[in-house]
Amino acid sequence: MKNASLFIYDISYLVTMDHEHRVLRNAWIWIEDGFIKELGTNEYPEALPENVYRLSGSGKILIPGLVNTHHHFYQNMARAYTPGNNLPLLPWLKHMNKLWKNFRENDLNLCTCLGLAELMLSGATTVVDHHYVFPEGAENMIDAQFDAASQMGVRFHAGRGSMNVKSDLISDWALQSEDAILEDTERLISKFHSDEKGCWQQIIIAPCAATSCSESLLRSSAEMAKKHRVGLHTHCGETVAENEFSLEHFSSRPLDYLLECGWDYNRAWLAHGIHFNNSELKALSKHGVGIAHCPNANMRLGSGICPVPKMLEQGIKVGIGVDGSASNDSGHILGELRQGLYLARVDGGAEAMSAIDALELGTWRSAELIGRDDIGRIAAGFCGDCALFPVYELYSNGCENAVDALLICHPRQVCDLIVGGNIRISNGNISSVDLDELMHSHRNRAEQIQNNLH
Ligand SMILES: [Zn+2]
Repeated sequence: MKNASLFIYDISYLVTMDHEHRVLRNAWIWIEDGFIKELGTNEYPEALPENVYRLSGSGKILIPGLVNTHHHFYQNMARAYTPGNNLPLLPWLKHMNKLWKNFRENDLNLCTCLGLAELMLSGATTVVDHHYVFPEGAENMIDAQFDAASQMGVRFHAGRGSMNVKSDLISDWALQSEDAILEDTERLISKFHSDEKGCWQQIIIAPCAATSCSESLLRSSAEMAKKHRVGLHTHCGETVAENEFSLEHFSSRPLDYLLECGWDYNRAWLAHGIHFNNSELKALSKHGVGIAHCPNANMRLGSGICPVPKMLEQGIKVGIGVDGSASNDSGHILGELRQGLYLARVDGGAEAMSAIDALELGTWRSAELIGRDDIGRIAAGFCGDCALFPVYELYSNGCENAVDALLICHPRQVCDLIVGGNIRISNGNISSVDLDELMHSHRNRAEQIQNNLH
C-alpha cells in the first residue's frame, strides 16, 4: 500500500485526541508521504510544496481515523437471521454455525469488502477481523481478506482464528487440526505481518474461544504469539454460561484458564470482558491483557454490561469493537461508540463517561489495545489517518457543541476519509469499490448461504 501527501485546510474543528485534548478551530494539517508532518491554525507552513494535493475542511470536523478491535466479517451474510434473532449467545451461535459449510474465499472477500465499506463510511481507518471458519478446501481465507483490505485501502489486522474441538455447537467440517492451524499461522505471519511504523498489515493469533479450542492449541497459540511478538486474541468473559462451562470442564474460571495456558502477555486482548470479578480485573491490569468492548453485541444477545470506566480506572487497556456482523448486526463504528457511551451511563449514571471519553475508546485507546503507537491521534509523526464528518446535517443541525454532537446526536457518515494521506472517501463516495454492484453480489450469495443452496 502506498503512502501519499495531502494538505487539508480551513478545518472547522480539528479534534486532535492529543494528551491535552486540544480542539483547533480553522485549522490545517499537512500529511507528507503518509505521516503527519505539521498541524496548525494560522499561517500555512513555509515549506509546503505548491503542488501538494489540497482538500477543504470547511464545515467539517476532523478526528483521528477510528480503530475497530473486534469483528467477524463473514457473519454479514447472516444478518438478522430469523432463527437467532431473539436468542442468547449459545443458542444463537448454534444456528449461526450451521450455515458455513459451503462458504469459500470469494465469499469472505465479498463480506470483507462490504464490512470494510460500512466501517470506512462511519470513520474507521484501521480494522481488526477475527476469522475462525475454515471449511475444508477453503484454507486461504485470510489471504482473501488481505486482498479485500488492499482494494479498499485500510490498515488491516487479520486475526487468524481456529477451532479444533467438536461440541454441540460446531460440526466436523468447521474443525482443523492443531498442526494445520499452526502451520498456516506461521505462513501468514511470514507472508503478511509487519510491525514497522505505519504498517498496513498485521497478523493476530486468534483461537475462537476456550470452549472450541484444545488446551494444547491455546498454549501453542500463546507461545507462537510471544515468539513472533504478534497480537493474541480470543473471546472471554462474555456470558455467565461461559463461566459455568469453564468451571465444569477446566475446573477454573475462563480467565484463570487462559492465564494458565500462557496468556499472561501484554499483546493479548479479549473480546467482551463482562463477567470478571475484582481479582480477575487485577490480573488483567497486572499482565497488560486488554478488552475489546462490544456494546451492541452485548445488548443484542443480552449478555451483560462490560464495566469499562472501572477497567480504565484500574489501568486496563480497553478499545471498541463493533463485533458481529450477525450479533450487532451492522458495523457503524461511530454508532458503536455512542452505544458504548450510553451503556456506561446505564450502568454508572450520566457522569460515568463523557463524549470525549467515548471518542478516546475509538481512537488512541483502541490503537494501544492492538499494540500500535503510530495511529489514534492527530499529532506530528503519527500516520496520516483521519475521518472528516459534516458539522451540520439533519441529525446534528442546531447543535451547540459540535464535537460532543458527534457522539450525542444520531451517528452520521463521513464526508471524507483519509488513510496514509490517501483520500479513500470523498464527498461521501467511496472510491475503491462499486457499492451497488458489491451489495448485489453479496446479497445474492447471502441468500444461497442462508438457504444452504450451495
Ligand atoms: Zn466476537
